[in-house]
Amino acid sequence: MRMEKMIRGVVASMALGAVLAGGGSEAGAATLYTGGVVFTLAEGEVAPAPVGHLLVSDEGLVLAAGPGAEPVAGTPGLDGAVRLNMAGKFILPGFVSGHSHLWQSAFRGIAADGELWPWLKALHFTYGGFFADGDFAAFTRHGAYDQLTHGVTTTFNHSHFLGRDFSRYTEQFTAELAVPQRFIFAWVHDSTADDATWEARFAPYLAQVGPAADKPLLGMALNAVGSSRAPGVLKREMEFAARHGLRVQMHYLEPFAEAAADRAKWPMLRDAGGAGANVSYAHFIHPDADILREAAAGGASMIWNPLSNGRLGSGLADIEGYLAAGLKVGMGEDGQASADISDPFENMRLGLYSLRMRRQNAKGLQPMDILRLHTLATARVLGVERYVGSLEPGKFADFLIVDPSRPGAGPVFDPAAHVLFAMSARNLHQVFIGGREVVRDGLVPGTDLVALENEVGERVAALRARAALAAAAPAPGH
Ligand SMILES: [Zn+2]
Repeated sequence: MRMEKMIRGVVASMALGAVLAGGGSEAGAATLYTGGVVFTLAEGEVAPAPVGHLLVSDEGLVLAAGPGAEPVAGTPGLDGAVRLNMAGKFILPGFVSGHSHLWQSAFRGIAADGELWPWLKALHFTYGGFFADGDFAAFTRHGAYDQLTHGVTTTFNHSHFLGRDFSRYTEQFTAELAVPQRFIFAWVHDSTADDATWEARFAPYLAQVGPAADKPLLGMALNAVGSSRAPGVLKREMEFAARHGLRVQMHYLEPFAEAAADRAKWPMLRDAGGAGANVSYAHFIHPDADILREAAAGGASMIWNPLSNGRLGSGLADIEGYLAAGLKVGMGEDGQASADISDPFENMRLGLYSLRMRRQNAKGLQPMDILRLHTLATARVLGVERYVGSLEPGKFADFLIVDPSRPGAGPVFDPAAHVLFAMSARNLHQVFIGGREVVRDGLVPGTDLVALENEVGERVAALRARAALAAAAPAPGH
């Protein structure tokens, strides 16, 4: 909570600075994106403005957004703003992924016929012990750029402690500092280490948190793994999170085959604080009525990952039932080894269509609802809605420019339906973070994505060779 106060203060002073600098000579001019279809996705917006505006300060903050070609006269920054005509284009907030494992980007297509456990065996258990220096960093960058070029401007990187090597583990954090995509880093402890080691290792990373429009690090969270570790680990993790005011996320109720065993863990999770408002569950596909009711009543939330849940045959979460029960819901891309393309357009479409197939009608959630789930609602689950998730004054100007004419997707009758049903990441023309263009037509200006692709290919080949060599070696003692 202490950290949250500090963060709030930083943003408040930044927003004030932007307003003061609006007409000044020291800062550059604001930019007015005018005439396009503007989705703010702020709470209560029932449809985008057919002709809207987005005014962005030179510091990278939203000054105004909404209907009409211009904000009201006198809006700070409007006088002298650079005007860009967006007619025919759509402007949306960047997508937020509430659950991702960026390093998995290097392992797509693995264990094609496996559900969660065979898939984990083929990935984590096969390669996790053979990472070399720099592997986690390269794989994480690969995953972050993949998400960014698909319009995910903020990600929750649920890190893994593979191979029991702490310095390699932290490459997952430092690699992201070099990528413009915003991230919340979900830290995972070495469950065999003591509390003092946990504190000492974590402190330098927590100290780097201080959200700003031009900084990728948005916050820290905890990936709690104690429910599948030695007794007492979960309690220590929850106490650690409470000491530092961290949100906690856990994998829970994912594979259908383990559903009964997972449900049996609920009293233990609940009694450790697992129904609390600072806890989110990745997947949460198979709760019974009591688990759903208690999680919703306590303020806990879940992250829905349709692509991954489909790929692994995990099941279809009852999203509409959860929302009716008062459970908070966000959306995630999950890792690219189980959602092998990190594309929120596909994620939203598959998710909505799956719900409709089960309902056997087209009522229930609508395109605007799904857009809000993958943006503002996810930001709320992660506790970062004051910075990202919608285009509202004071928030970071993280937005997408989508062009329904490139490639041609036909005349537009209903912009929200067009985004969900008729367009794909191919229509994503530009991605902005903190008002700065970071992606144009799938490329990242100033970054050689081909060189990164080649490096990842070489590293994975070497990793596979090391794992194969170890598998072929005689067991110790022979
Ligand atoms: Zn996951």
